[in-house]
Amino acid sequence: MLFGVPDYVPALMQYINAYGVDLNLGNTLTGVDGPARTATFNCVEADGSSRRVTREFDLLHVVPPQVAPDFIRVSPLADAAGWVDVAPDTLRHKAWTNIHALGDVTNTSNAKTAAAARKQAPVVAHNVLAAMDKAKGSAHYDGYGSCPLTVERGKIVLAEFTYGGRVAPSFPSWLIDGTRPSRLAWLLKERILPPLYWKGMLKGREWMAKPELADL
Ligand SMILES: Cc1cc2nc3c(=O)[nH]c(=O)nc-3n(C[C@H](O)[C@H](O)[C@H](O)COP(=O)(O)OP(=O)(O)OC[C@H]3O[C@@H](n4cnc5c(N)ncnc54)[C@H](O)[C@@H]3O)c2cc1C
Repeated sequence: MLFGVPDYVPALMQYINAYGVDLNLGNTLTGVDGPARTATFNCVEADGSSRRVTREFDLLHVVPPQVAPDFIRVSPLADAAGWVDVAPDTLRHKAWTNIHALGDVTNTSNAKTAAAARKQAPVVAHNVLAAMDKAKGSAHYDGYGSCPLTVERGKIVLAEFTYGGRVAPSFPSWLIDGTRPSRLAWLLKERILPPLYWKGMLKGREWMAKPELADL
C-alpha cells in the first residue's frame, strides 16, 4: 500500500496522479550499480511470483530499512528483530520489569515518530515512578503516532492514528480534516509544532499529553 492506514490513501493518490508518479508497489531495491547508474529490484507480482528488474536512473533517492543501533540489537534487551522488547501499552520490558523504553528503538507497532515519543514519555515517566513505588497504577500508551505528509508547498495531509490503524485526530474535522490536504495542518507543522517540541517536550514541560492511568 502507499500508506498503512487506508483512510489517508485517497488524498495521497490524488497527488500521485496529479504529479504523474509511476507507482510500483511490491518492488524492493536489492542492488545499486553507481557508475552504471542502474538499480536492481525484486518485483513481486499479483500472483505471488517474483522477478528481478534492473532500471536506469538519473537520480536515486533511497530510504534504507529502519534498524535499531548496534548496541541495542546485540543486547539481551532486544527481540529477535533487534528492537527493545516492551509491552505495547505500558512500555515496560517484557523480561525485566524495572526497564522501560520509548521512541524509535522499541518493538511497538506504532508509527515511529517524534509525535509518538511525545505521548510515550509521560507514560514511561509514570511507570518508572510506579516501579520505584513513587506512583500508583500503571499508565498506558494507545499507539498514537502522527505523520504530517507534505503533499505540496503549503499543504499537508495530517495522518494521526493509534494501534491497529485507528484514526485518532487531535482536531475536529471542521478545523483540520486529516484525510484531506490542509493549509492549517501546514501551519501547525511549520509554526506551532517546532516551539511545542523544542520549548515544551524537550525541556520536560508537557501539559497536553497526559497519560491514561489504569489498575488504580
Ligand atoms: C526525514 C525524517 C522526517 C521525520 N519527520 C517527522 C515528523 O514530521 N513528525 C514526527 O513526529 N516524526 C518525524 N520523524 C521521526 C522522528 O524524527 C523520530 O521518530 C524521533 O526522532 C525518534 O526519537 P528517538 O529519541 O526515539 O530516537 P533518535 O531521535 O534517533 O535519538 C536517538 C539518539 O541516540 C543517539 N545514539 C545512537 N547510538 C548511541 C550510542 N551508542 N551512544 C550514545 N548515543 C547514541 C543518536 O545519535 C540519537 O541522537 C522523522 C524522521 C525522519 C528521518
